[in-house]
Amino acid sequence: MVDRLYYSDTYLKEFTAVVIGCEQVKKGWEIILDRTAFYPEGGGQPCDTGTINTDIHVTDVQERGEEIIHLADKPVEVGSAVSCRIDWDRRFDLMQQHSGEHLVSGFIHAKYGYNNVGFHMGSEMITVDLDGELDAKALAEIERATNEYIWTNKKTEELHPSEDELKELDYRSKKELTGDVRIIRFPGGDTCACCGTHVASTGEIGLVKLVSVQKFHEGVRIEMLCGRRAMEYLNAVNGENYKISTLLSAKVRETSSAVERLMNEAQSLKIKIAEAENNMLNDIAKDYVGKDFVLINRQGLTPESVRRLTAVLIEQNSGICAVFSGNDNDGYKYAVGQKDGDLRELVKQMNAELNGRGGGKPFFAQGSVSCSGEAINKFFEDKK
Ligand SMILES: [Zn+2]
Repeated sequence: MVDRLYYSDTYLKEFTAVVIGCEQVKKGWEIILDRTAFYPEGGGQPCDTGTINTDIHVTDVQERGEEIIHLADKPVEVGSAVSCRIDWDRRFDLMQQHSGEHLVSGFIHAKYGYNNVGFHMGSEMITVDLDGELDAKALAEIERATNEYIWTNKKTEELHPSEDELKELDYRSKKELTGDVRIIRFPGGDTCACCGTHVASTGEIGLVKLVSVQKFHEGVRIEMLCGRRAMEYLNAVNGENYKISTLLSAKVRETSSAVERLMNEAQSLKIKIAEAENNMLNDIAKDYVGKDFVLINRQGLTPESVRRLTAVLIEQNSGICAVFSGNDNDGYKYAVGQKDGDLRELVKQMNAELNGRGGGKPFFAQGSVSCSGEAINKFFEDKK
């Protein structure tokens, strides 16, 4: 049976072993060692990665029956002695996340009785799913309690209770357990059945940051980060906030009210622009009262203004009213209408002759044409 060095010394980074199996598979080579410090994926904790003999890269480690399979990019001779090294930065990060998650789940369980029903250590975020509801205020309390506990720097305990002892033990577990059960206890914090690797004392977790909580199935999903990941996340968020504060000349703790002010200003400007535009369109329309035919070609109107001006014009004129805006290079937006008229044939012809597209109701159409202003004038000259 393989000697699991990650249990005898969780902090072992380098070790030697004898190769007892090496087989080629689709993704590379499956290597079996007589002893290993590579943690295989399990208990919610991703596997270790690292190297064998410095040049063979281990990219995946899985448990298969009693064996631990190291997926590598090169073969190694069976029977040879090898020196191995695990990616310690990755492992220590996972230990910080995993231990922090136990404490958060433990404190929530103790205070609210909720169970951790899903745990995922993603490459960015750690998520914990609970079978009960928590709000942001409750989350802040749990975060504070967990961090205050972490700073007391308690030694982590690993227990292997007898069957009778196990019956008496109050511990968290996803299922009923028998036989040799490994219990991880943070004294006064949490007791939980677990096969993962943990920090030796809680101070090494450093910091727990509960990032968000949202409804998920019958309960909530918490996003959380610990240790170095928490620091890097907070650095990134702080950096963004600092940029916002500089851009808005606001204090770093008052950026949201500065953004709110900016949005209110933008909203009232929008209203002012709409009013000014309305006045402008009404002014233009005043020059065309009581006409049999109106053709306006004017630069700088938005498609919405083109539509609105036409709508005003057909209310005050009985004939066809057409408004264009644009230029010869980019083409023109148009709207054309006639009160109670039927312009379908005209629009069809216009789109055909002026290389356009668009349509609408029988009495009102809008679209665009790709032609010169002169061509527009000529088209309507012929139609008058
Ligand atoms: Zn665990």
